[in-house]
Amino acid sequence: MTFTAVNPASGETLGEVPEWDERLLDAALSEVAAATPGWAALPVVQRCEQLRVVAQVLRDNLEEYARLITQEMGKLIRESRAEIEKCAHACDYYAEHGPAFLHDEEIASDAGLSYVAYLPLGTVLAVMPWNFPFWQVFRFAAPGLVAGNTAVLKHASNVPKCALAIEDVFRKAGFPQGVFRTLMIRASQVKKAIEDPRVHAVTLTGSEPAGRSVAAVAGASLKKTVLELGGSDAFIVLEDADLDLTVQNAVAARFLNAGQSCIAAKRFIVVDAVAEDFVARFKAGVEALQPGDPMDENTTLAPMARADLRDDLHRQVQESIAAGAVATTGCEPIAGAGAFYQASILDSVGPGMRAYQEELFGPVAIVIRARDEADALRIANESSYGLGGSVWTRDAQRGERLARQVQSGCTFVNGMVKSDPRLPFGGVKSSGYGRELSHHGMHEFVNAKTIWIK
Ligand code: NAP
Repeated sequence: MTFTAVNPASGETLGEVPEWDERLLDAALSEVAAATPGWAALPVVQRCEQLRVVAQVLRDNLEEYARLITQEMGKLIRESRAEIEKCAHACDYYAEHGPAFLHDEEIASDAGLSYVAYLPLGTVLAVMPWNFPFWQVFRFAAPGLVAGNTAVLKHASNVPKCALAIEDVFRKAGFPQGVFRTLMIRASQVKKAIEDPRVHAVTLTGSEPAGRSVAAVAGASLKKTVLELGGSDAFIVLEDADLDLTVQNAVAARFLNAGQSCIAAKRFIVVDAVAEDFVARFKAGVEALQPGDPMDENTTLAPMARADLRDDLHRQVQESIAAGAVATTGCEPIAGAGAFYQASILDSVGPGMRAYQEELFGPVAIVIRARDEADALRIANESSYGLGGSVWTRDAQRGERLARQVQSGCTFVNGMVKSDPRLPFGGVKSSGYGRELSHHGMHEFVNAKTIWIK
């Protein structure tokens, strides 16, 4: 059996990568277990130096890795280049700040000396999605490796070449054998890996069902988890918003990566006073997007990553229209080769429609009209998700007040939601739990150990 890499822009098969059986999984876990004590024993600064080499390898091979991402999951080549640079930046960030984040923290108590030491947990298993096939991995690996953990990766089935290329980054950077391994296993083998005593913790980025399944297995094995799951971020437009700025960001925030980002703006909640104006301008911006070859610098709308995902999205759209939503533009697959879907707007979305309740993971913006600010907030918080969100208003204080009331892991005022190594990232409600990035992300997978000396 093999993993098949397919170019979603053309439908052409790029190659096959053999799947692992249990014997190969066992051998890899043994290799990682053998490497774990030595890696943990290295001084933090030495691990940081190695991570700087990783950043260099990423930059030296940026074009090759960017092409691989675009070929395997379809995003625009300039977005792929930016993704590799972002990975290198995160490595630099943790190489610089790791020693301070992991420094012993002295705390006055009844002891002669008491402090918290941040020690590694062991081996962290990462179950990762295809939408940012490098970034999602480096986002967990950079802080985890600096903290002294070793890492094993189960990547999404449709990006097997990226999965192997990432392992090769660490090889090129001179990491000891077994500190980072890619496991070529299926989702059905993840349970076995989690239950294995050589795995000590699990981080999953992906859908809600995958999160529930992995958390249940990890819970039964009493292993720490971080879950970064789906989102349906609110993009709240108030009547005093600067509409030029708002619309420009609305298009970018929804259609980056063909709409396949967890923190994409998915629900445009617009107060009635500006709804017509906003939708008219937004429609013009959306209709200007140009689908095409993602390797072509002039293309502005990428294909979706897989044809089956496009079919699922179209079913959500059709059923929402049948329930009363209005197709303002697009809302159809694009005929021909590749998994392209029209840049779309569904207006007048309301309760009871799939688009109101569910995450739409593709190039479809939904507009929900609100009476006023209070109504917009009520709608924003009616979602089962709570990943990110944004508020658009000329009054920054008003925006801040509202931002604090949106139930999410982050809310931006007059800015598109993005991740940044300096700031914690994660969700509430069905978007998961735990944090990545910043010192919060690093501290998820350490033993905060108390040392007490009389
Ligand atoms: P997915 O189907 O859940 O897959 C994610 C990973 O989980 C893949 O490696 C997948 O393996 C694996 N997996 C799936 N079901 C599993 C199970 N029952 N047990 C163990 N592993 C399992 O998600 P996706 O379609 O690739 O990604 C899209 C979703 O991820 C969206 O909901 C998006 O919002 C979310 N996401 C969240 C964040 C965040 O930071 N919060 C970031 C990016 C994406 P296979 O590929 O082999 O099935």
